[in-house]
Amino acid sequence: MKIALIAHDKKKDDMVHFCMKYRHILAKHELFATGTTGTIVTRSTDLPVHCYKSGPLGGDQEIGAQVAKGEIDMIIFFRDPLTAQPHEPDVSALFRLSDVYQIPLASNFKTAELFFKNL
Ligand code: PGA
Repeated sequence: MKIALIAHDKKKDDMVHFCMKYRHILAKHELFATGTTGTIVTRSTDLPVHCYKSGPLGGDQEIGAQVAKGEIDMIIFFRDPLTAQPHEPDVSALFRLSDVYQIPLASNFKTAELFFKNL
């Protein structure tokens, strides 16, 4: 599967924790990420990740474009619900596209765990 990984800044520790815990599963899939998230995931897991631009600079939209092209099968997006994001419209657009194309999107750690237990 092609899995996209995205984490807002205050959720990046969660993403590192998740990726280390499920490294054995992630290793069997093709990974994509927004810029900073991808850099951190690669550093902590040593797994190859295709990095798009940083989220606030268009990375969420790049991943959205991949969803529209049928190039992403699952999104793990650890969203920070307590901090305003300058690129909120891009975030909403990606959530919308995941619904348009019926792509499973986990927006928090526990949902992502449920997804991975079913992979
Ligand atoms: P980042 O982007 O991985 O480049 O920090 C994530 C986001 O804020 O959408």
